[in-house]
Amino acid sequence: MITPNRTPWQPHDWQKLLQQAFRQPATLLAHLKIAQDAVAPDADPDFAMLVPEPFVQRMQPGNPLDPLLRQVLPTQQEHQQQPGFVADPLGETDAALDFQRAPTLMQKYQSRVLLITTPGCAVNCRYCFRRHFPYQDHKPKDHALALQAIRSDNSISEVILSGGDPLLLGDEALARLLQQINAIPHVERIRLHSRLPIVLPQRVTQGLLDLLQDSRCPVALVVHCNHVQELDAQTARAFACLRDAGVHLLNQSVLLHGINDEVDALCELSRGLFAQGVLPYYLHMPDAVSGTAHFDVLDAKGVELHTQMRNQLPGYLLPRLVREEPGGASKTPMPTDRLALRTID
Ligand SMILES: *Cc1c(COP(=O)(O)O)cnc(C)c1O
Ligand code: SF4
Repeated sequence: MITPNRTPWQPHDWQKLLQQAFRQPATLLAHLKIAQDAVAPDADPDFAMLVPEPFVQRMQPGNPLDPLLRQVLPTQQEHQQQPGFVADPLGETDAALDFQRAPTLMQKYQSRVLLITTPGCAVNCRYCFRRHFPYQDHKPKDHALALQAIRSDNSISEVILSGGDPLLLGDEALARLLQQINAIPHVERIRLHSRLPIVLPQRVTQGLLDLLQDSRCPVALVVHCNHVQELDAQTARAFACLRDAGVHLLNQSVLLHGINDEVDALCELSRGLFAQGVLPYYLHMPDAVSGTAHFDVLDAKGVELHTQMRNQLPGYLLPRLVREEPGGASKTPMPTDRLALRTID
Protein backbone atom coordinates (compact mmCIF):
# COMPACT_ATOMS: atom_id res chain seq x y z
CA MET A 1 0.00 0.00 0.00
CA ILE A 2 1.29 3.46 -0.83
CA THR A 3 1.69 5.40 2.39
CA PRO A 4 0.13 8.82 2.02
CA ASN A 5 1.50 11.93 3.60
CA ARG A 6 0.12 11.87 7.16
CA THR A 7 0.79 15.43 8.26
CA PRO A 8 -2.14 17.77 8.93
CA TRP A 9 -2.36 21.22 7.37
CA GLN A 10 -1.68 24.57 9.03
CA PRO A 11 -4.68 26.20 10.76
CA HIS A 12 -5.10 29.11 8.34
CA ASP A 13 -4.75 27.21 5.06
CA TRP A 14 -8.40 26.25 4.82
CA GLN A 15 -9.81 29.63 5.82
CA LYS A 16 -7.76 31.34 3.16
CA LEU A 17 -8.82 28.80 0.54
CA LEU A 18 -12.43 29.28 1.55
CA GLN A 19 -12.18 33.04 1.14
CA GLN A 20 -10.63 32.54 -2.28
CA ALA A 21 -13.28 30.02 -3.40
CA PHE A 22 -14.85 30.45 -6.84
CA ARG A 23 -18.14 32.35 -6.58
CA GLN A 24 -18.78 33.45 -10.18
CA PRO A 25 -19.70 30.92 -12.86
CA ALA A 26 -17.91 32.99 -15.53
CA THR A 27 -14.64 32.97 -13.56
CA LEU A 28 -14.82 29.24 -13.00
CA LEU A 29 -15.55 28.54 -16.67
CA ALA A 30 -12.74 30.82 -17.83
CA HIS A 31 -10.37 29.07 -15.43
CA LEU A 32 -11.40 25.69 -16.90
CA LYS A 33 -11.31 27.01 -20.49
CA ILE A 34 -14.93 26.09 -21.11
CA ALA A 35 -17.11 28.27 -23.35
CA GLN A 36 -20.18 29.76 -21.64
CA ASP A 37 -22.57 28.50 -24.31
CA ALA A 38 -21.38 24.92 -23.79
CA VAL A 39 -23.06 24.84 -20.37
CA ALA A 40 -25.70 27.66 -20.16
CA PRO A 41 -24.57 28.94 -16.76
CA ASP A 42 -26.82 30.99 -14.49
CA ALA A 43 -24.82 34.08 -13.50
CA ASP A 44 -27.15 35.05 -10.67
CA PRO A 45 -28.79 31.99 -9.11
CA ASP A 46 -30.92 32.10 -5.93
CA PHE A 47 -28.64 29.46 -4.43
CA ALA A 48 -25.20 30.99 -4.92
CA MET A 49 -22.26 29.22 -6.50
CA LEU A 50 -19.47 28.28 -4.12
CA VAL A 51 -16.53 26.01 -5.01
CA PRO A 52 -13.16 25.86 -3.25
CA GLU A 53 -10.09 25.68 -5.45
CA PRO A 54 -8.85 22.24 -4.26
CA PHE A 55 -12.07 20.76 -5.70
CA VAL A 56 -11.69 22.74 -8.93
CA GLN A 57 -8.16 21.31 -9.31
CA ARG A 58 -9.71 17.87 -9.83
CA MET A 59 -11.93 18.98 -12.72
CA GLN A 60 -10.89 18.34 -16.32
CA PRO A 61 -10.17 21.59 -18.17
CA GLY A 62 -12.17 21.90 -21.37
CA ASN A 63 -14.79 19.32 -20.39
CA PRO A 64 -18.29 20.83 -20.06
CA LEU A 65 -19.60 17.42 -18.92
CA ASP A 66 -17.06 17.02 -16.13
CA PRO A 67 -18.79 15.15 -13.28
CA LEU A 68 -17.39 17.49 -10.63
CA LEU A 69 -18.25 20.66 -12.52
CA ARG A 70 -21.84 19.51 -13.00
CA GLN A 71 -22.28 19.12 -9.24
CA VAL A 72 -21.45 22.75 -8.55
CA LEU A 73 -22.13 24.92 -11.61
CA PRO A 74 -25.47 26.80 -11.55
CA THR A 75 -27.21 26.40 -14.90
CA GLN A 76 -30.41 27.51 -16.59
CA GLN A 77 -31.73 23.95 -16.14
CA GLU A 78 -32.41 24.84 -12.51
CA HIS A 79 -35.29 27.07 -13.67
CA GLN A 80 -37.21 24.19 -15.20
CA GLN A 81 -40.31 23.51 -13.16
CA GLN A 82 -41.20 19.87 -12.83
CA PRO A 83 -44.38 18.58 -11.21
CA GLY A 84 -43.62 16.81 -7.93
CA PHE A 85 -40.39 18.74 -7.32
CA VAL A 86 -40.88 21.01 -4.31
CA ALA A 87 -38.86 23.20 -1.92
CA ASP A 88 -38.92 20.78 1.02
CA PRO A 89 -39.64 17.22 -0.15
CA LEU A 90 -38.46 15.78 3.16
CA GLY A 91 -40.91 17.83 5.20
CA GLU A 92 -38.10 19.21 7.39
CA THR A 93 -40.02 22.45 7.89
CA ASP A 94 -43.40 20.72 8.18
CA ALA A 95 -44.67 21.41 11.70
CA ALA A 96 -47.11 18.49 11.46
CA LEU A 97 -44.21 16.03 11.20
CA ASP A 98 -42.76 17.55 14.38
CA PHE A 99 -39.04 16.86 13.81
CA GLN A 100 -37.98 19.86 15.86
CA ARG A 101 -36.77 18.92 19.34
CA ALA A 102 -35.17 22.34 19.96
CA PRO A 103 -34.34 25.30 17.69
CA THR A 104 -31.14 23.62 16.46
CA LEU A 105 -32.06 19.99 17.11
CA MET A 106 -33.92 17.68 14.75
CA GLN A 107 -34.96 14.13 15.44
CA LYS A 108 -36.46 11.86 12.83
CA TYR A 109 -35.24 8.48 14.03
CA GLN A 110 -35.04 6.61 17.31
CA SER A 111 -31.87 7.00 19.41
CA ARG A 112 -30.13 9.57 17.20
CA VAL A 113 -30.55 13.31 16.91
CA LEU A 114 -29.18 15.80 14.43
CA LEU A 115 -27.71 19.10 15.53
CA ILE A 116 -27.70 21.97 13.03
CA THR A 117 -24.34 23.58 13.74
CA THR A 118 -23.78 25.99 10.86
CA PRO A 119 -25.93 27.52 8.15
CA GLY A 120 -23.39 27.15 5.36
CA CYS A 121 -21.22 24.69 3.52
CA ALA A 122 -17.81 24.97 1.88
CA VAL A 123 -19.39 24.06 -1.44
CA ASN A 124 -22.90 24.56 -2.74
CA CYS A 125 -24.03 21.35 -4.41
CA ARG A 126 -26.67 22.10 -6.98
CA TYR A 127 -28.75 19.02 -6.10
CA CYS A 128 -28.73 19.80 -2.37
CA PHE A 129 -31.92 18.87 -0.53
CA ARG A 130 -31.36 21.79 1.84
CA ARG A 131 -30.91 24.40 -0.90
CA HIS A 132 -34.15 26.03 0.20
CA PHE A 133 -33.75 25.33 3.94
CA PRO A 134 -34.68 28.38 6.08
CA TYR A 135 -31.46 28.44 8.10
CA GLN A 136 -32.33 31.91 9.37
CA ASP A 137 -35.12 30.31 11.46
CA HIS A 138 -32.67 27.84 12.96
CA LYS A 139 -29.88 30.18 14.01
CA PRO A 140 -27.18 27.85 15.24
CA LYS A 141 -25.83 30.39 17.72
CA ASP A 142 -27.08 28.83 20.88
CA HIS A 143 -27.25 25.12 21.48
CA ALA A 144 -28.32 25.39 25.12
CA LEU A 145 -31.86 24.17 24.44
CA ALA A 146 -30.62 21.39 22.16
CA LEU A 147 -28.14 20.18 24.77
CA GLN A 148 -30.85 20.34 27.42
CA ALA A 149 -33.15 18.22 25.24
CA ILE A 150 -30.39 15.61 24.76
CA ARG A 151 -29.54 15.62 28.46
CA SER A 152 -33.12 15.01 29.50
CA ASP A 153 -33.75 12.08 27.13
CA ASN A 154 -31.67 9.01 27.77
CA SER A 155 -33.04 7.21 24.73
CA ILE A 156 -30.61 9.36 22.72
CA SER A 157 -27.33 7.49 22.25
CA GLU A 158 -25.95 9.30 19.21
CA VAL A 159 -25.55 12.95 18.32
CA ILE A 160 -24.97 13.84 14.69
CA LEU A 161 -23.34 17.17 13.94
CA SER A 162 -24.76 18.41 10.66
CA GLY A 163 -25.42 21.74 9.08
CA GLY A 164 -24.66 23.04 6.69
CA ASP A 165 -21.26 21.61 7.36
CA PRO A 166 -20.07 21.22 10.97
CA LEU A 167 -16.40 21.35 9.97
CA LEU A 168 -16.87 24.98 8.98
CA LEU A 169 -16.84 25.64 12.72
CA GLY A 170 -13.42 26.57 14.03
CA ASP A 171 -11.52 24.14 16.20
CA GLU A 172 -12.41 25.99 19.42
CA ALA A 173 -16.16 26.07 18.78
CA LEU A 174 -16.07 22.43 17.76
CA ALA A 175 -14.03 21.43 20.81
CA ARG A 176 -16.52 23.17 23.10
CA LEU A 177 -19.46 21.47 21.45
CA LEU A 178 -17.85 18.04 21.63
CA GLN A 179 -16.98 18.63 25.26
CA GLN A 180 -20.60 19.48 26.07
CA ILE A 181 -21.91 16.43 24.25
CA ASN A 182 -19.28 14.14 25.76
CA ALA A 183 -20.36 15.32 29.22
CA ILE A 184 -23.80 13.73 28.73
CA PRO A 185 -23.33 10.17 30.05
CA HIS A 186 -25.95 8.39 27.92
CA VAL A 187 -24.47 9.62 24.63
CA GLU A 188 -22.36 6.78 23.22
CA ARG A 189 -21.47 7.99 19.74
CA ILE A 190 -20.77 11.25 17.98
CA ARG A 191 -21.11 11.48 14.24
CA LEU A 192 -20.14 14.28 11.87
CA HIS A 193 -21.60 14.67 8.40
CA SER A 194 -19.16 16.77 6.39
CA ARG A 195 -18.10 17.34 2.83
CA LEU A 196 -15.00 19.30 3.81
CA PRO A 197 -12.50 16.41 3.79
CA ILE A 198 -13.42 16.06 0.09
CA VAL A 199 -13.80 19.64 -1.13
CA LEU A 200 -11.35 21.30 1.26
CA PRO A 201 -9.08 18.61 2.80
CA GLN A 202 -6.95 21.43 4.27
CA ARG A 203 -9.58 21.62 7.03
CA VAL A 204 -7.76 18.68 8.65
CA THR A 205 -5.54 20.53 11.12
CA GLN A 206 -3.72 19.27 14.19
CA GLY A 207 -6.28 21.11 16.31
CA LEU A 208 -9.13 19.20 14.66
CA LEU A 209 -7.33 15.88 15.05
CA ASP A 210 -6.64 16.58 18.73
CA LEU A 211 -10.25 17.35 19.56
CA LEU A 212 -11.52 14.28 17.70
CA GLN A 213 -8.95 12.08 19.38
CA ASP A 214 -9.83 13.49 22.81
CA SER A 215 -13.53 12.71 22.43
CA ARG A 216 -14.86 10.28 25.06
CA CYS A 217 -17.41 8.99 22.55
CA PRO A 218 -16.02 7.25 19.47
CA VAL A 219 -16.40 9.48 16.44
CA ALA A 220 -17.73 8.51 13.02
CA LEU A 221 -17.22 10.91 10.15
CA VAL A 222 -19.51 10.49 7.15
CA VAL A 223 -18.05 12.31 4.17
CA HIS A 224 -19.85 12.98 0.92
CA CYS A 225 -18.21 11.97 -2.34
CA ASN A 226 -20.09 11.14 -5.54
CA HIS A 227 -17.36 10.35 -8.04
CA VAL A 228 -13.91 8.75 -7.87
CA GLN A 229 -12.43 11.82 -9.56
CA GLU A 230 -13.11 13.71 -6.30
CA LEU A 231 -10.41 11.61 -4.61
CA ASP A 232 -6.77 12.63 -4.90
CA ALA A 233 -3.55 12.77 -2.87
CA GLN A 234 -5.01 15.53 -0.69
CA THR A 235 -8.09 13.55 0.28
CA ALA A 236 -5.85 10.53 0.94
CA ARG A 237 -3.76 12.68 3.26
CA ALA A 238 -6.82 14.03 5.10
CA PHE A 239 -8.24 10.52 5.59
CA ALA A 240 -4.90 9.11 6.75
CA CYS A 241 -4.68 11.83 9.42
CA LEU A 242 -8.27 11.25 10.53
CA ARG A 243 -7.80 7.49 10.74
CA ASP A 244 -4.64 7.99 12.78
CA ALA A 245 -6.81 10.02 15.18
CA GLY A 246 -9.14 7.01 15.57
CA VAL A 247 -12.03 8.36 13.48
CA HIS A 248 -14.26 5.87 11.65
CA LEU A 249 -14.65 6.98 8.05
CA LEU A 250 -17.77 6.37 5.98
CA ASN A 251 -19.10 7.87 2.77
CA GLN A 252 -22.51 8.82 1.48
CA SER A 253 -23.24 9.59 -2.15
CA VAL A 254 -26.23 10.77 -4.07
CA LEU A 255 -27.15 8.96 -7.28
CA LEU A 256 -27.17 11.74 -9.88
CA HIS A 257 -28.07 11.67 -13.53
CA GLY A 258 -25.13 12.62 -15.75
CA ILE A 259 -22.67 12.43 -12.83
CA ASN A 260 -22.50 8.90 -11.45
CA ASP A 261 -25.48 6.93 -12.81
CA GLU A 262 -23.35 4.22 -14.41
CA VAL A 263 -22.28 0.97 -12.85
CA ASP A 264 -18.58 1.42 -13.63
CA ALA A 265 -18.49 4.89 -12.08
CA LEU A 266 -20.22 3.62 -8.93
CA CYS A 267 -17.95 0.57 -8.55
CA GLU A 268 -14.83 2.68 -9.12
CA LEU A 269 -16.03 5.07 -6.44
CA SER A 270 -16.44 2.26 -3.89
CA ARG A 271 -12.99 0.86 -4.70
CA GLY A 272 -11.39 4.30 -4.68
CA LEU A 273 -12.89 5.11 -1.29
CA PHE A 274 -11.64 1.84 0.19
CA ALA A 275 -8.16 2.51 -1.18
CA GLN A 276 -8.19 5.71 0.88
CA GLY A 277 -9.57 4.07 4.03
CA VAL A 278 -13.27 4.96 3.68
CA LEU A 279 -16.20 2.52 3.56
CA PRO A 280 -19.31 3.21 1.48
CA TYR A 281 -22.37 3.77 3.68
CA TYR A 282 -25.35 5.16 1.80
CA LEU A 283 -26.19 5.73 -1.84
CA HIS A 284 -29.17 8.07 -1.78
CA MET A 285 -31.80 8.29 -4.45
CA PRO A 286 -32.05 12.00 -5.33
CA ASP A 287 -34.71 13.96 -3.43
CA ALA A 288 -37.41 15.71 -5.45
CA VAL A 289 -36.17 19.24 -4.69
CA SER A 290 -37.33 21.99 -7.02
CA GLY A 291 -34.58 23.10 -9.39
CA THR A 292 -32.91 19.66 -9.44
CA ALA A 293 -35.13 17.63 -11.79
CA HIS A 294 -32.31 17.36 -14.34
CA PHE A 295 -30.35 15.21 -11.86
CA ASP A 296 -33.18 12.78 -11.23
CA VAL A 297 -32.74 9.03 -11.66
CA LEU A 298 -35.74 6.72 -11.95
CA ASP A 299 -36.25 4.23 -9.12
CA ALA A 300 -36.05 1.29 -11.51
CA LYS A 301 -32.69 2.49 -12.81
CA GLY A 302 -31.37 2.96 -9.27
CA VAL A 303 -32.36 -0.58 -8.34
CA GLU A 304 -30.86 -1.97 -11.54
CA LEU A 305 -27.54 -0.17 -10.98
CA HIS A 306 -27.42 -1.32 -7.38
CA THR A 307 -28.00 -4.95 -8.42
CA GLN A 308 -25.14 -4.70 -10.91
CA MET A 309 -22.92 -3.23 -8.19
CA ARG A 310 -23.82 -6.08 -5.86
CA ASN A 311 -22.70 -8.55 -8.51
CA GLN A 312 -19.34 -6.85 -8.97
CA LEU A 313 -18.30 -5.75 -5.49
CA PRO A 314 -17.54 -7.45 -2.19
CA GLY A 315 -20.44 -6.93 0.19
CA TYR A 316 -18.55 -4.44 2.34
CA LEU A 317 -18.05 -2.10 -0.62
CA LEU A 318 -21.74 -2.03 -1.51
CA PRO A 319 -23.46 1.11 -0.19
CA ARG A 320 -27.06 0.80 1.01
CA LEU A 321 -29.39 2.21 -1.63
CA VAL A 322 -31.98 4.30 0.18
CA ARG A 323 -34.59 6.96 -0.28
CA GLU A 324 -35.79 9.38 2.32
CA GLU A 325 -39.51 9.58 2.90
CA PRO A 326 -41.02 12.17 5.21
CA GLY A 327 -42.25 10.53 8.37
CA GLY A 328 -40.37 7.24 7.78
CA ALA A 329 -38.89 5.50 10.85
CA SER A 330 -35.56 5.15 9.03
CA LYS A 331 -34.16 5.85 5.60
CA THR A 332 -36.17 3.63 3.28
CA PRO A 333 -34.16 0.81 1.68
CA MET A 334 -34.91 0.46 -2.01
CA PRO A 335 -36.33 -2.95 -2.91
CA THR A 336 -34.06 -5.46 -4.61
CA ASP A 337 -35.06 -7.21 -7.79
CA ARG A 338 -34.81 -10.55 -5.98
CA LEU A 339 -37.66 -11.52 -3.75
CA ALA A 340 -35.89 -12.84 -0.70
CA LEU A 341 -38.72 -13.32 1.76
CA ARG A 342 -39.24 -16.81 3.09
CA THR A 343 -42.28 -17.60 5.13
CA ILE A 344 -42.90 -20.36 7.59
CA ASP A 345 -46.01 -22.32 6.75
C1 LIG B 1 -30.28 10.69 7.72
C2 LIG B 1 -30.59 11.18 9.08
C3 LIG B 1 -30.07 10.55 10.21
C4 LIG B 1 -29.12 9.40 10.13
O1 LIG B 1 -29.71 8.21 9.77
P1 LIG B 1 -28.81 6.90 9.81
O2 LIG B 1 -29.64 5.87 9.16
O3 LIG B 1 -28.52 6.62 11.25
O4 LIG B 1 -27.54 7.20 9.09
C5 LIG B 1 -30.42 11.02 11.45
N1 LIG B 1 -31.23 12.08 11.59
C6 LIG B 1 -31.76 12.70 10.53
C7 LIG B 1 -32.67 13.85 10.77
C8 LIG B 1 -31.45 12.29 9.24
O5 LIG B 1 -31.95 12.94 8.18
S1 SF4 C 1 -22.26 19.72 1.25
FE1 SF4 C 1 -24.19 18.63 1.67
S2 SF4 C 1 -25.52 20.12 2.77
FE2 SF4 C 1 -23.80 21.26 1.78
S3 SF4 C 1 -24.60 21.92 -0.22
FE3 SF4 C 1 -23.54 19.96 -0.55
S4 SF4 C 1 -25.17 18.40 -0.35
FE4 SF4 C 1 -25.95 20.32 0.56
